Amino acid sequence: MATYEYRCPRDGVFEAAYPIGQAPAGMPCATCAAEADRVFSAPMLSATPRALVTALDRAGRSAEAPEVVSRIPGRRSTATRPVHPGHARLPRP
Ligand SMILES: [Zn+2]
Repeated sequence: MATYEYRCPRDGVFEAAYPIGQAPAGMPCATCAAEADRVFSAPMLSATPRALVTALDRAGRSAEAPEVVSRIPGRRSTATRPVHPGHARLPRP
């Protein structure tokens, strides 16, 4: 069985499962029973870079349950950052 997409002019895209090669060109919409045409879409390919998939998954999760942090991620604190010796000679406010 494969999943095929059909587009109803009123309700949008819905999916239906048929054996490979036996999907009809059109079928009645599951909601309004109007004739829906088959939509050709890209198959699920695993060519997407893993880093991009991870970033997209993280972005999707942050929309629902954002992580709570106490500082900006990826930045070192100012205590460990080296201070330039010339800064000590600058005038103080
Ligand atoms: Zn419909």
